Amino acid sequence: MSSAPREPVRFVDLAAQQARIRDRVDAAVKRVFDHGQYIMGPEVAELEAQLSAHCGAAHAIACSSGTDALAMVLMAKDVRPGQAIFCPAFTFVATAEVVAWLGAHVWFVDVDADTFNMDPTSLEVAIAAARAAGHAPVGIIPVDLFGIPADYDRISQIAAREGLWVLGDAAQSYGARYHNRQVGTLAMATATSFFPAKPLGAYGDGGAVFTDDAELAATLRSILFHGKGANQYDNVRVGMTGRIDTVQAAILIEKLAIFDDEIEARNRIASRYSDLLKGHIATPKVPAGLQSVWAQYTVKLPEGADRAAIQAHMKDLGVPTAVYYPKPLHRQDAYSHHGVAGGELPVTDMLSACVLSLPMHPYLDEETQDRVADALISAM
Ligand SMILES: *Cc1c(COP(=O)(O)O)cnc(C)c1O
Repeated sequence: MSSAPREPVRFVDLAAQQARIRDRVDAAVKRVFDHGQYIMGPEVAELEAQLSAHCGAAHAIACSSGTDALAMVLMAKDVRPGQAIFCPAFTFVATAEVVAWLGAHVWFVDVDADTFNMDPTSLEVAIAAARAAGHAPVGIIPVDLFGIPADYDRISQIAAREGLWVLGDAAQSYGARYHNRQVGTLAMATATSFFPAKPLGAYGDGGAVFTDDAELAATLRSILFHGKGANQYDNVRVGMTGRIDTVQAAILIEKLAIFDDEIEARNRIASRYSDLLKGHIATPKVPAGLQSVWAQYTVKLPEGADRAAIQAHMKDLGVPTAVYYPKPLHRQDAYSHHGVAGGELPVTDMLSACVLSLPMHPYLDEETQDRVADALISAM
């Protein structure tokens, strides 16, 4: 009856979250301004202690970004030219980028059509192909895409058999659960990101590494501070500027306080989306025993659907959508010379053509969820 134009839906609504915690964030930032320890202030150690208690990893090392978190682990493992590292092709570029930084070979692995995560069978094909090419396999970087943990049981078995380490790329999955274990405890080391739009986001860049290995933790703390030894003017290895800002740590402490509640909300919203869309489209599947943090809620359009037209129609109805990822990494100019398991990655290519991510954040009310679902159904 009302003909007033409705405001467009927000894909991620950081403003709603901010309204909830603004007073506490203001107070936390003010405390940092008052003590003035902008680098490695007390909030950094406090955030690390809280993260470690939250996920159960013995060590949490906060750092400058998710990309740097991945890179620092590779530096700590002394990754170098001639070595091979395995990662999915259906991911954000940072996963493979850090391997290329160090001059090692990337081997792209296909993914599972339901979870969008690394396919262990394709991983085995890639490892054999890398050895046949004369490369030295050293490590695997599974990605917990859209918030669902990868198949760590099977990947760890393959890693153990082949003598490889596992570094989890949990940039999208911090807070997720895998058979009663938390992300952060599922691999030799786990990297996450606090980019603002990630489930646990700062108001700027940030990241963390989780590990139970005390020696690796100490090496990472050295690398993130220019390879410091006894002090910052004692340089025992080549490092980088990998620290998190104290202000971001202070903000993250306030965000972590509401994070479990937000994860519950994301799960409620995702399951309601799935109820509304059931029978209309292929909705996300979370394997039994796992809990996602729903960094994205991503559907698969039917074969032959005109994705661009569907997106345009939904946009006209005020519903934004996104495609993660339209061009897989093995087809990117910067990475197309790297190895590909079995020579082609059919599931990765299929998904790149048909995925569509819907608005997802913890503050989507039911009316807005209905509007998103209706827009998608009408667009199809
Ligand atoms: C966001 C993201 C990263 C990089 O994190 P930044 O904090 O932006 O550097 C790495 N891997 C995946 C899968 C991501 O989604």
